[in-house]
Amino acid sequence: MNIIIFGATGSIGQNTLDVIRNQRPNHDFRVLALTGNNNIEQLIKDAIEFSPERVVTANHANFQELKERLAPYNIEICSGEKAILETARMEADWVMSAIVGFNGVSPTLEAVKYSKIVAIANKETLVCAGKILMETAERFSTILLPVDSEHNAIFQCLKNEDINAIKKVILTASGGPFRKSSLAKMESATVDQALAHPTWKMGHRITIDSATMFNKALELIEAKYFFNLASDQLDVVVHPQSIIHSMVSFHDNSILAQLGPNDMRCAIAYTLNYPLRKPSLGEEIDFAALGKLTFEAPDFRKFPALRLVRSVLKSNGGLGVVFNAAKEIALDRFISGEIGFLDMSRLVEEVLMFPEMIKIEHKTPEYIEEIILLNNRAREIAKEIKLH
Ligand code: NAD
Ligand code: MG
Repeated sequence: MNIIIFGATGSIGQNTLDVIRNQRPNHDFRVLALTGNNNIEQLIKDAIEFSPERVVTANHANFQELKERLAPYNIEICSGEKAILETARMEADWVMSAIVGFNGVSPTLEAVKYSKIVAIANKETLVCAGKILMETAERFSTILLPVDSEHNAIFQCLKNEDINAIKKVILTASGGPFRKSSLAKMESATVDQALAHPTWKMGHRITIDSATMFNKALELIEAKYFFNLASDQLDVVVHPQSIIHSMVSFHDNSILAQLGPNDMRCAIAYTLNYPLRKPSLGEEIDFAALGKLTFEAPDFRKFPALRLVRSVLKSNGGLGVVFNAAKEIALDRFISGEIGFLDMSRLVEEVLMFPEMIKIEHKTPEYIEEIILLNNRAREIAKEIKLH
């Protein structure tokens, strides 16, 4: 099986390599390409271990060092955004889409045209280009498999089910590090506090997105497009143990849930072995030791992202692009210390209310070029807005 991993040096990328490493003795896996950005040490280490045909860094500045240090090996070295897109055109059996943020959208859409299976961790592709992604997959008969634990859970619950029998899907959320904090404490929360996720170990950006619940908001949009649901079929419940990864409620009031350890290697292995199930890494759940699973309603005052996303879910227009772009800039501005933790949702709200952006609500982007333009414009606006 020929494999490409986009974002190989990240949290999902490394977990993917771990699953491959673990299953390799019993499988014919061939890694065609690995892509990364600035973590050259990791990229070199993995290139030596997995002997891909090609290694790509998104950053031209890393090209020379990568080329010199991998010179003894028979590996093609490339750099830049274009090289990543070209890599998406290599024909593969299985692709992991795990670049973080909007930069993952174009390569994912391209890979869907050339690969048999694309495992999607880059939720931004669904948030910004959900319609295009699903249509492209259908046109090229490509199988899309969700890696995000919630969507992977829903996908598993829906196996052999009639899509029309779904009443709603209920995404679970851990509640993040501020579940029990006061609004006042959240107002002055630091980057380090936002990075202290109680249950999942992930990349820095998604970890802070979990603390604001922007991650859950993006996941609602992701679910809407992946499973073709209406906005009133999408719900969130806080489940601090992160054992139930999500649930589907049907019209007969039966509910199916998928449970598992909070270890992304389980969801990744599911997509790698699909449609089979193979022994996987990750601890077995000990229910007696766990004792109880609890649930609570999300607090919309503390997590305005869940309120803001509702207008995006109702529209089929380009608001997903605007929402994501504004969130990415808000996150940059929070990390750099320029704005406070709760200012992130204030900034996103202002961008959504910007007259030029409101118009987008009813205009569905049909082409990736439109999405890129809209993304750039929304980012500009988000950079310029001064919060009072
Ligand atoms: P990460 O920050 O750990 O890794 C990101 C990867 O993207 C790295 O390999 C990095 O080199 C690469 N990258 C960064 N900027 C790039 C650019 N400009 N061009 C090309 N590549 C670039 O992120 P992560 O936590 O692994 O998340 C990856 C994606 O998976 C995100 O979309 C995230 O929302 C999603 N996801 C992650 C988890 C998780 O457990 N980490 C769970 C569900 C979904
Ligand atoms: Mg998730």
